[in-house]
Amino acid sequence: MTLSSLDVTTTRQVRVRAPGKINLSLHVGPRQDDGYHALTTVFQAVSVFEEVVARACDERVVTVSGPQSELVPTDSSNLAMVAVELLARATGIDEGVRLHIDKGVPVAGGMAGGSADAAAALLACDALWQTGLSRAELVELAAELGSDVPFVLQGHTAVGQGRGHLLTPVLGRGEFHWAFAVQDRGLSAGVVYRALDELRAMGDGADVAEPPDLDDDVPLLQALRAGDAHALGAALHNDLEPAALELDPDLAQPLAVAQDAGALGVVVSGSGPTVAALARSRQHALVLAAAFTAAGVADRVLTATGPVAGARVISTD
Ligand code: ATP
Repeated sequence: MTLSSLDVTTTRQVRVRAPGKINLSLHVGPRQDDGYHALTTVFQAVSVFEEVVARACDERVVTVSGPQSELVPTDSSNLAMVAVELLARATGIDEGVRLHIDKGVPVAGGMAGGSADAAAALLACDALWQTGLSRAELVELAAELGSDVPFVLQGHTAVGQGRGHLLTPVLGRGEFHWAFAVQDRGLSAGVVYRALDELRAMGDGADVAEPPDLDDDVPLLQALRAGDAHALGAALHNDLEPAALELDPDLAQPLAVAQDAGALGVVVSGSGPTVAALARSRQHALVLAAAFTAAGVADRVLTATGPVAGARVISTD
């Protein structure tokens, strides 16, 4: 036996962790001819995680565990499987894989749980199959998978433009503490965007800028740079919030409960229905979560900090 043959190791299993996100601000331009809306958003990755384990296998299969896992498809429409197929096609690799997703991010909650699974599956299979793709090539594949997938790979805090996939990192300091009111009933992002179009069609639509203007976010970006949670709370903004409230009027309740409990700011996360409340401290985040529970305005509560890193391989065997 030669020394080099001893060096050859085969990776049999890769574990990846990927965060969920919230939109600190979300400005939505008018609907374009391609059906998409131009966005200007500030994303923050938060410490609510998906864990994806990829194991070598003859077939391609996916299983899911964790809260609301019964709502997640286990066929080829699962976004993690879509990522696997895309990576296999892009690299010409014809390997199987057994994926297991342990969900921590709410399903259809406006926190990019499916996108986190897609990003995690991409990284996990890239490592398992040793594709040799560069980081830039992986980011390109991520953008094909969905608007939020590049951000979940990158993590931290970033401005997203275009469909949200053109990212610029945001310099910031400090750590922010969040409490989330999670609902079992999801909201489909497509339905929320259509409701926004209808609301705008009923008004004069005069204030809908194309493309949406980053100038509106100057106070928010200054708050992040200063690590000023009070200023950040005052600057939280989501153009989709009126549409989410139109579709799900009960969301007014967690918004009001968080305000009454002293949240520095409160906003519907992305297309909802998760409500994100900014706390003064880690302890205050627990107080806000308890207020959601006591008022009966959430099916589940979570607390988290942000920003956190993007999708990462955490172990290989
Ligand atoms: P976003 O914030 O990016 O709009 P979301 O967090 O609101 O997304 P997801 O949890 O990503 O929504 O799921 C949206 C829908 O996608 C679900 O209702 C589910 O049917 C489908 N889906 C496909 N794959 C997954 C997955 N791996 N995890 C969750 N949902 C998935």
